[in-house]
Amino acid sequence: MYPNIQMVDLRGQYLKLKPQIDEAIANIINNTAFIGGKAVQDFAANLAQYLHSNSVIPCGNGTDALQIALMALNLQQGDEIITASHTFVATAEVIALLGLKPVFVDIDPDTFTIDTAQIAAAITNRTRVIIPVHLFGQSADMETIMAIAKKHKLYVIEDNAQAIGANYYYTNGTTQKTGTIGDIGCTSFYPSKNLGCYGDGGAVFTNNPHLAQQMHLIANHGQRVKYDSDVVGINSRLDGIQAVVLAAKLPHLDQYIAARQQAAAYYDAAFAQHPNIKIPQRTSYSSHVFHQYTIYIQGNRDQLKQALEQKGIPTMIYYPIPVHLQKAYQYLGYKSGSLRHTEYAAAQTISLPMHTELTQEQCQYIADTVITLAAQIS
Ligand SMILES: *Cc1c(COP(=O)(O)O)cnc(C)c1O
Repeated sequence: MYPNIQMVDLRGQYLKLKPQIDEAIANIINNTAFIGGKAVQDFAANLAQYLHSNSVIPCGNGTDALQIALMALNLQQGDEIITASHTFVATAEVIALLGLKPVFVDIDPDTFTIDTAQIAAAITNRTRVIIPVHLFGQSADMETIMAIAKKHKLYVIEDNAQAIGANYYYTNGTTQKTGTIGDIGCTSFYPSKNLGCYGDGGAVFTNNPHLAQQMHLIANHGQRVKYDSDVVGINSRLDGIQAVVLAAKLPHLDQYIAARQQAAAYYDAAFAQHPNIKIPQRTSYSSHVFHQYTIYIQGNRDQLKQALEQKGIPTMIYYPIPVHLQKAYQYLGYKSGSLRHTEYAAAQTISLPMHTELTQEQCQYIADTVITLAAQIS
């Protein structure tokens, strides 16, 4: 057994920046700059520069980011929001929470992102927004999505929580960061995300000055002037300690991505010819930043997961129950079989250890063990 393989190794990453991060956190405490202040503003400006986005508005977490984005669009109760069911529940949750209606579209099984060929059929006269989720670190087909949105006058909110730093490649050769293509991009700085802080954090991005102003207000109780709310808002803030952690890590984000891509390339090569394993497919229109390395397994996936656990290899299932089949979302009327590819992915995929600190030896042990055990499952 190989010692100490983790699904995500946040400690190893911390130790490499420890003096810098410890000092920055101590400064925040010394200056009692707990909420708001220069550190938060500086990080937002740095991230805006990295993304080439006009505005980055930090907030409390990725779920809030999605909620703030939807709240900025002046939607009416019952308006329909098209999104994927193969996602973390937050994407659909905020839609439901605001009295809007989630409309789920199946995924392309190769990419795990929303199947653009099925979006048009889901559009009604109540549809207002499309929320593509750049799941596992690869962009949805944004050029097609933006064309559909333009034709039907819909907003696009990108759930970029898993893909920060990914590049989108347009057919005309230009490149843009994911999360800056739609009207609004949302991200999470949850510790295990590709750019994670040491608690909760999130942000919205936009190039639209009006939406930027609205989201700024909404995240701060709807207040333009202190103690005088213009609109109904929420309290959603990134704190100073999280901002300095993120500021220390942002300059390394591209290296972190490269380390993930290297581990993914190693896994790819090991599994390439395996009859029972399908490796993650790459698209022509996006880089892949590998928030997760997720494979399809032919055979008893849960048996494989258990056997790997016994060999000291942790794995995760993203996601075991599609949102449309979860109890809270039964009222929407979806049934087992409603979204075939989404349900198949929930049943037959497994995500392997993926983080910035994986060594080649660890990847080799993981790949060899997966190959051996995949041959033994029923
Ligand atoms: C993590 C995540 C979120 C929510 O982010 P939090 O910071 O945990 O609220 C939303 N959508 C997706 C796809 C995510 O992976």
